[in-house]
Amino acid sequence: MTPAQVDTGADLRALADEANERLAEASAAQIIGWARETFGSSLVVASSMADTHLVHLAQAVAPEIDVLFLDTGYHFAETIGTRDAVAHAYQVNLISILPRRTVAEQDAEYGPKLHDRDPDLCCAMRKVEPLERGLKPYTAWVNGMRREESPTRANIRVIDYDAKRDKVKISPIAAWTQDEVDTYVAENSVLINPLFMDGFASIGCEPCTRRVAPGEDARAGRWAGFSKTECGLHT
Ligand code: SF4
Repeated sequence: MTPAQVDTGADLRALADEANERLAEASAAQIIGWARETFGSSLVVASSMADTHLVHLAQAVAPEIDVLFLDTGYHFAETIGTRDAVAHAYQVNLISILPRRTVAEQDAEYGPKLHDRDPDLCCAMRKVEPLERGLKPYTAWVNGMRREESPTRANIRVIDYDAKRDKVKISPIAAWTQDEVDTYVAENSVLINPLFMDGFASIGCEPCTRRVAPGEDARAGRWAGFSKTECGLHT
């Protein structure tokens, strides 16, 4: 199928099922290559800048690819610095998406530190809605989820149909281990968020991210004190 042919939900689901079966064991580069060939400029990478290895890989296979970054207003300065370095050094078209409200506007309307009281609502306004808006022009999106990151990600497919958004969702590094990430980063001198060298294993917004102890699940440092483990982008 060409991109012009995949314009309905039913077609996208069938396309995703077929491609997932065929490419389940393919390399990450092959999966991104297939996605570029299939969707052309209607393909985008969503990156938190904690997965710059994914951005590096995507632009190596698909130069000038669009990369969406959700600028929540709560990021560490190191994350914003990483985004700017990536935009400068890599062959990407980096697009920062802002929430509809600034942090000050949200504080005025919902009270300060909503993230401490209702992180689901805060994520809905600062991550989920901006992602929906950012993804709208595209048919398919690439993300950096890996199965070993957490039990909630253990069964992700490399190519899936995202029914909620009516898009194809591509997870080319789903099978990568942390060792494979580290090897790719070292071999390709990938720009990384410096917080990874300071005890952080998974990096999100500053108020909702803490360092993890050795041996702890990488995502244990996210929303510590809440049962929440995902921001809602992948549900
Ligand atoms: Fe708000 Fe925390 Fe979600 Fe960021 S991660 S949007 S600060 S609740």
